[in-house]
Amino acid sequence: MIAQVIVDVAAKQTDRVFEYHVPASLEVSIGDRVVVPFGRRKVQGFIVGLTDRTDYPGQLKDLLLVLDELAPLTPELVQLSSDLAQDIFAYRISILKAMLPGVMRAGYRKLLVPASERAKELLMFQGDPLEVNELKTPKDLALARQLLKNGDARIEYLVENKAKKKTVAVYSAKLPSAEYQSILDGLRANAAKQRLLLTDLLEDRASYPKKQADLEKLGLAASSLNAAVKKGWLEKQQAEVYRKPQVAKPLKNKRPLPLNDEQEQAYQAISADIARKKSETFLLEGVTGSGKTEVYLHAISKALENSRNALMLVPEISLTPQMVKQVQARFGDQVAVLHSGLSEGEKYDEWRRIRRGEARMVVGARSAVFAPIANLGLIVIDEEHEASYKQDSNPRYDARKVAIWRGKYHHCPVVLGSATPALGTRARAQKGVYRLLTLKKRANRQPLPKVDLVDLKHVQFAGSQFDLSVKLTSAIGERLAKKEQVILLLNRRGFANFMLCRDCGFVLKCPNCDLSLTMHKDTGMMQCHYCGHAEPVPELCPNCRSRQIRFLGTGTQKVQEELAALFPQARVLRMDVDTTRRKGSYEKILDAFGNGKADILLGTQMIAKGLDFPNVTLVGVINADTGLWLPDYNASEKTFELLTQVAGRAGRAEKDGEVMIQTYNPDHYAISLAQKQDYELFYRKEMQMRHAGNYPPYFYTALISIASKNEQNAARESFKIKRRLQAQLKAPTIILGPAPAAISRVKNQYYYQILVKYKREPRLNALLHQIQDDAQEIKKYGLTVDIDSEPERIM
Ligand code: ADP
Ligand code: ZN
Ligand code: ZN
Repeated sequence: MIAQVIVDVAAKQTDRVFEYHVPASLEVSIGDRVVVPFGRRKVQGFIVGLTDRTDYPGQLKDLLLVLDELAPLTPELVQLSSDLAQDIFAYRISILKAMLPGVMRAGYRKLLVPASERAKELLMFQGDPLEVNELKTPKDLALARQLLKNGDARIEYLVENKAKKKTVAVYSAKLPSAEYQSILDGLRANAAKQRLLLTDLLEDRASYPKKQADLEKLGLAASSLNAAVKKGWLEKQQAEVYRKPQVAKPLKNKRPLPLNDEQEQAYQAISADIARKKSETFLLEGVTGSGKTEVYLHAISKALENSRNALMLVPEISLTPQMVKQVQARFGDQVAVLHSGLSEGEKYDEWRRIRRGEARMVVGARSAVFAPIANLGLIVIDEEHEASYKQDSNPRYDARKVAIWRGKYHHCPVVLGSATPALGTRARAQKGVYRLLTLKKRANRQPLPKVDLVDLKHVQFAGSQFDLSVKLTSAIGERLAKKEQVILLLNRRGFANFMLCRDCGFVLKCPNCDLSLTMHKDTGMMQCHYCGHAEPVPELCPNCRSRQIRFLGTGTQKVQEELAALFPQARVLRMDVDTTRRKGSYEKILDAFGNGKADILLGTQMIAKGLDFPNVTLVGVINADTGLWLPDYNASEKTFELLTQVAGRAGRAEKDGEVMIQTYNPDHYAISLAQKQDYELFYRKEMQMRHAGNYPPYFYTALISIASKNEQNAARESFKIKRRLQAQLKAPTIILGPAPAAISRVKNQYYYQILVKYKREPRLNALLHQIQDDAQEIKKYGLTVDIDSEPERIM
């Protein structure tokens, strides 16, 4: 038998399949993770095919090792990796690895292996080869070099399998109960520990094999257990245990709510498709608070009742304990959870529960779309408009498209849910490619919150800065007086987002990127939000030594300081990238706010999504314009979406909600229509703009980025690529650029971009693959292709 293997070699990414002979001693299947020889090395690879014919009979090397008990990739995922690699211009190996938990991406060890007795002596060889990385002293290195030169030693690469199960000691009962009884009857009076153990073996025999930890809880120390093993009463073994993500207090068994008419209609449509195994994509468009979640949960129940499994994706940011608790309350242990808050071990174990068919429902963030769950009956993507469903580094996959692919494979419906669907999604629903289901009423019968615009051009500001209007400040004061809670959004972290010298005009920029540094008052550093560069806040202008330096632009830290001055009694929590870096801190802040331990939650867009706090009655947007003028055709859509989402956070329970949006652009349609919460009109207006600009969804886009340490090189190669495209692509395809990217330098790499807009361009895929392969071959510049890309944005 011959295995076709995709190898994991970083320096030489390739989609070529290599063939290996499978020795009779190994049992393999498609999807297995294996170790194979590759050149002088041993590397990890994945079996993507098995065959009995080859063009190179007798010349194939042997496959060395199979790494897992159960092939980690199902045939479905192997097939998906191939189709996806074609569509998104990623190498197949990068997709295969993205499908697996982190611990299944192999580590490599570089070893110095002695090849002669002399070398063994010189290296004081103890039986273990030496790690090259551990040879540190100049003397050791010189010795190693010499041994290698003389052939007295060789380098070997070893694949290190980091995927490890957790096991614990368990004890099983070895004797029939009657024998334990007779031992117990004959026991000396002072053998208390033995009596304890024997009594447990008789009375609670069903609990064996029993974990050591549980026996210790009974009062049986390790020494007593060892003695029992010696006597032949017990047998000690190792048993696997799952590392379970910690769930805070689970909700009490939360029963399904009876659906209202709108929900029922949506549910019936989805459920009919589940029953007749039809793969169809639904857009469930429902205003915030319309009860989309309840529709999802009903549909998931339906799938489970039909003996099929379900997958639900939510944005990472909404994967709050709130959400997970709600799903677990309904479906219990059948749920596996996958998100970045889990430890590597927990992820591996949750993933294996899925692979083994022990979990029947998965809820997770973007990469959970690759969960190896079999027999899918339903896929749900909540908040489908979220940009985070598209991965913005390699492999640049879009979880929505992957979900639809899997829906077709499993003959099951896919439900995309949102209050503000992505323009493209809505356009496809309008055309009948997707089926539109709408929820117009709020399920809790609350009216949508009243939204006010505050025109910053004509207001007075409270406090010393020009950030908080008197109007917003007095609204905050009123809510605080009533002991209600306030959420404030400012989509910019740090204190001030640039430093300007008033004497010479100097702006302090990152040395590695074409971007101004943000002042962080808490750390006293100027930070680059792109590459992480940080330097102390200057006291003098670095250019002209003037003292007249100013820190302009407002970030969350500055607003926090102002709030402290204006409302000294208020307890303010800040939530942004800086306060949520540590594991669990995100949940901690939300829990504290939810439990009324703070009055104001101030944060970046991460507070806008999916949170449900009944005591929040005022939502304030400090500055609605932060994303409006980015060089991005999506800027209006993103602004509208963010404002509508954050407005939905107010008045989630009995109390009426109020929203106040501060802006310098009250007449911009993205802002005025967000105020009216009129998605329909926004959709029509924005579609006109896209039509006029030849942008998606009227055109597809492919963004080609060319990167080089040398700017001229980046420019020159970009023009060459443009000429190649021009030679083959004809109108109505539009080729824009090359031009420096919006942020033209990041981490000392210069970026040029070419944007291809096309409607139908059958030759484009092959052409882009050629261009990509050539770049890989030449290695003079980096190249990525991003299909339906969104230009980069500044946070
Ligand atoms: P969405 O996800 O559409 O924003 P949610 O699913 O969060 O809305 O629902 C909003 C609120 O309405 C929740 O508190 C939920 O418990 C409640 N709700 C949903 N469906 C019903 C129903 N059929 N009857 C009563 N309350 C409901
Ligand atoms: Zn200066
Ligand atoms: Zn930088």
